[in-house]
Amino acid sequence: MNFHVLTLFPEMIENGMNTSITGRAIAKGLLTLETVNIRDFAFNKHQKVDDYTYGGGAGMLMQAEPVYLAYESVAAHTQGKPRVVYLTPQGEIFNQSMAREMAQEKDLVFLCGHYEGIDERVLEEIVTDYVSIGDYVLTGGELPAMVMMDSISRMVPGVLNNEESGETESFAGNLLEYPQYSRPEEWHGKKVPEVLMSGHHANIDKWRREQSIIRTAQRRPDLLKKADLSNKEWNFVRQLKKQWKEEETK
Ligand code: SAM
Repeated sequence: MNFHVLTLFPEMIENGMNTSITGRAIAKGLLTLETVNIRDFAFNKHQKVDDYTYGGGAGMLMQAEPVYLAYESVAAHTQGKPRVVYLTPQGEIFNQSMAREMAQEKDLVFLCGHYEGIDERVLEEIVTDYVSIGDYVLTGGELPAMVMMDSISRMVPGVLNNEESGETESFAGNLLEYPQYSRPEEWHGKKVPEVLMSGHHANIDKWRREQSIIRTAQRRPDLLKKADLSNKEWNFVRQLKKQWKEEETK
């Protein structure tokens, strides 16, 4: 997977991505990271990349030409026209299935806006995907780009030490992950659930599956609606909801 990031703050991306698991994956060559400073393509005296918006209004806008030239510098060495993700609060909300799908690409270009955003005309020419990381406004696209690259990286074979851990995590099959415990067996008077100490793998799997369902029903009922459950499990959900309603009205 080759990540290319068009940004005004390459050091922010480099520092973030060259740390921990993604840093190790870059060092191993499983991922490559190219940052392109959009300012390097502003051929004016002060390398200015922003200007006032036509029609008035507060704030400055990133101009089309430096963004376009920065993009061209990347497209010149990718195979064909690359997929270009513009990070914007106006985009489709990022999720795990989008990460899984994007992890199939050979090259991904991330375009980070700043100030009031970017001149619409260059977006129309180069952007293939408009993606938001949530319904709030940030100062720039760098953190969203790193959020996306981090979660996409985890889907690239070899990036996680134990590939299984990517499979059983939250959102696999639209369920949240079950609660987990490590040593000691008792902490602050709370004991690790007995089944986890039993060594009985079938029972442990059953307990974990049930806990995933309970947790998703409690915390993300919207997600549970899309979960792939058996008839028996849907009955279990109905029972749970009935029980919670009864407890509420007590
Ligand atoms: N004026 C823009 C609007 O109302 O849609 C917001 C611009 S924001 C201050 C500056 C830049 O931060 C954007 O161009 C985008 O790249 C990034 N950004 C801000 N919030 C974001 C979000 N929730 N998801 C992805 N990118 C975001």
